[in-house]
Amino acid sequence: MTSLFHDIIFGPVRSRRLGLSLGVNLLPADSKLCSFDCIYCECGWNAENPGARRFNERPEVRRLLEQTLRRMVAEGTPPDVITFAGNGEPTLHPEFEAIIDDTIALRDAWCPAAKVSVLSNATQLHRPDVRQALLRVDNNILKLDSAFDETVRRMNRPQNPAYTVRGTIDAMKRFDGRMILQTMFLRGTCEGLPVDNTTETEVAAWLEAVEEIRPARVMVYSLDRDTPCRTLEKIAHDELQRIAVRVEALGIPCSVA
Ligand code: SF4
Repeated sequence: MTSLFHDIIFGPVRSRRLGLSLGVNLLPADSKLCSFDCIYCECGWNAENPGARRFNERPEVRRLLEQTLRRMVAEGTPPDVITFAGNGEPTLHPEFEAIIDDTIALRDAWCPAAKVSVLSNATQLHRPDVRQALLRVDNNILKLDSAFDETVRRMNRPQNPAYTVRGTIDAMKRFDGRMILQTMFLRGTCEGLPVDNTTETEVAAWLEAVEEIRPARVMVYSLDRDTPCRTLEKIAHDELQRIAVRVEALGIPCSVA
């Protein structure tokens, strides 16, 4: 079963890779709100959750984040990372930039060693406020699952018909390497149509895109939790590892989650 985050602040969750991570959900607590509708989304399909389309408000996010950081610091367990993720795309929030500034100020005040991470699908990079905010966080993690529009349409289902991979790559290039590229690899079928971004054609074109974007690093991963589409296959760690080796051959560090 896919599931939603029912709180504005969630976790903390301890992971080997990130340490103690505290999550921030700017999207509605009762529904998913995203400019993509990925076939592997852990929050389910957009249409499954037609709740109130209300973003969590900036003062409330700030108040709850401060309250949580204060408690974690008092308990001697400050977070290693504050991660913007949750029920959809955080950069859709109209006050995303101001919320990032609040978060950086709270981090500096309560746990200066913690990193601020944003997991984004890169659909809002045309907005100057979003770009500015992403340049200020420690980990600007942007998704690109394929170099082909057709595959992105199948895997990520962009809600904007004008979406193009070319536009996304060009917007990513403008970060001059101040970003981390994240890619989900999978294969299988969804609603009767085959989907596979691990073929040689896919991986070779994706590597060309990686080389063009030149992110600070790349993170590749595969399915972990339940997905709305049940006929998808998780890619084995050693296959992801072989892709990572090809990224590293370009001189770009690559981790396998
Ligand atoms: S971008 Fe993230 S939140 Fe949006 S549909 Fe895809 S996996 Fe879900």
